[in-house]
Amino acid sequence: MSQFVCPHCGAVNRAPEDRDASAAKCGRCAGKLFMGKPVEVSGAQFDAHRRSTKGAALLLDVWAPWCGPCRSMAPHFAAAAQRLEPGVRLLKLNSDADPEAAAALGVSGIPALFLIADGKVAARKAGLMTADQIVSWTRQSLAGASV
Ligand SMILES: [Zn+2]
Repeated sequence: MSQFVCPHCGAVNRAPEDRDASAAKCGRCAGKLFMGKPVEVSGAQFDAHRRSTKGAALLLDVWAPWCGPCRSMAPHFAAAAQRLEPGVRLLKLNSDADPEAAAALGVSGIPALFLIADGKVAARKAGLMTADQIVSWTRQSLAGASV
């Protein structure tokens, strides 16, 4: 079984691995579990995804509204979501809105990407990347982490 947090209501949903999770709907609110785009999260919501996501990785983009490279990367990160879901759930954390969550991750420069597998940080990378670079870095890092 895979397990995902609903991006709309926060309910934890289980999904059989032999079914395409990209079409799955939340058992509580009937919203789609995957929308082909990154999910904006608070620090608390990120913790919930990190705790309850099973059978899939998380890719977190830590950004801020004043950060030019972050804004440049946003469409690339969104395009990467379409290619990586549902094996990887893409999340965005605004470090201005939740500086404590960013500090807890040890963020020094943004944009910063964190790849999380089984609740642990499997890889991290700072700086602007294109969609192709995000997808290939994520796949290579997951292969290295044998997830
Ligand atoms: Zn829901």
